[in-house]
Amino acid sequence: MNTNKYDIVVVGAGPAGSMAAMSAAAAGAKVCLLERKPVAGAPVRCGEGIGHKGLTLTLEPRPEWIKAEITRARMVSPSGIEVGIGNPGKAWILDREKMDADLVQDAVKHGADYFPSTPVITAEKLPNGLYRCMAKNEKHPEFIASCLILADGVESRLARNFGWNTALRPHDIETCAFARVRSADIKPDCCVFHTGSAAAPGGYVWIFPRSKGMANVGLGIIGSRCTPGLPKKLLLEFIARRFPDSEVTDVHCGGVPVGRWIRPLVKKGVMLVGDAARQVGAINGAGIAYSLYAGKTAGAIAAKSIRADGSANHRMLREYHKQWAKRFGKQQDRSFALKEFILSAGDRFLDDIAKSLSKEDPEKLNYLRVFTRTFASRPKLLWKAFWLFR
Ligand SMILES: Cc1cc2nc3c(=O)[nH]c(=O)nc-3n(C[C@H](O)[C@H](O)[C@H](O)COP(=O)(O)OP(=O)(O)OC[C@H]3O[C@@H](n4cnc5c(N)ncnc54)[C@H](O)[C@@H]3O)c2cc1C
Repeated sequence: MNTNKYDIVVVGAGPAGSMAAMSAAAAGAKVCLLERKPVAGAPVRCGEGIGHKGLTLTLEPRPEWIKAEITRARMVSPSGIEVGIGNPGKAWILDREKMDADLVQDAVKHGADYFPSTPVITAEKLPNGLYRCMAKNEKHPEFIASCLILADGVESRLARNFGWNTALRPHDIETCAFARVRSADIKPDCCVFHTGSAAAPGGYVWIFPRSKGMANVGLGIIGSRCTPGLPKKLLLEFIARRFPDSEVTDVHCGGVPVGRWIRPLVKKGVMLVGDAARQVGAINGAGIAYSLYAGKTAGAIAAKSIRADGSANHRMLREYHKQWAKRFGKQQDRSFALKEFILSAGDRFLDDIAKSLSKEDPEKLNYLRVFTRTFASRPKLLWKAFWLFR
């Protein structure tokens, strides 16, 4: 049998896996990147929105990755009250297909071996302390390494072999449907979010302009309120209402984990990164920036451990968990608490906030103002919020 031996095996070539492979290879480790699909990043399962700060934390944005620059945002409440956010901070709509493909190429340029069409079926620890992945690839079925980085996305199953419980409660997954919409009614620099249980129960609808007259339109429904086929049905109804006479292509479905991030992120020489580790903002479902950062950090630390010890040293690998927890742990915990709060507060609450915020000058809106206006309208909720965020 053809066995491939590496320092580090990375499973999954999304942003988290490619960054992990690139940073580990750049630091001198012998790395391979295994991807089940023939082409990483295609078809795109993403709204492709990212804040400038989140992207530049890890990468220098390349002009060819940017489809649109966003300077404005609007929120629409369940009963249709619109709130403008004048200065949401610079944000981008990406070309994920291009970016994901380029990140794989960057990993290869730094020396990683890339195996597309290679779904990993099992992963285990061998008695000699090394890790083995068995893949559905006739020429390359077996991969052995000192360290495993699991970046296999929201459906991640491999982590369970190492004792992680990655099962998602229905309350902790957004089931999404999304499409590309062509319509003359799309504003080129403005993201729009529609809230409310009629539009998207326990989630929201997003309209992200991609280029002139074209947008990514999608919605997420919280798993506990979702039934088979509902996301696609609500999406197509929304598009027909909001953009009559539009052209709709590339309708797909996908899931976003909106639970707590998984702890610990490192076990027995195995690291979890990106959606597989639930490193996603629970309130908005955004995970690209977190995945890029987690992948880069985990890859660099794994390579450092191999260089120092010749194998994966648990104490050194744990540094990844510590760095993540310090930088994003609290932020993600707050985002999770906020999601729980909004889910329990319901549509009337969102309408009340929108009503009070619609009287504000959009240019002057900030978090403190949103907070004071929110609780001025429903003081009882302050107590509830206190318990969730304590
Ligand atoms: C509908 C939707 C809209 C979204 N919109 C946004 C947005 O606008 N902004 C944002 O920041 N985030 C968004 N997200 C979330 C974002 O897409 C993810 O957080 C991000 O892609 C996570 O990167 P990742 O590398 O961890 O996982 P992925 O990008 O999912 O990559 C995982 C890779 O692993 C591969 N894989 C899985 N199992 C195996 C296996 N056994 N063997 C080999 N390979 C395997 C998969 O094929 C895939 O290529 C959205 C998600 C969805 C579903």
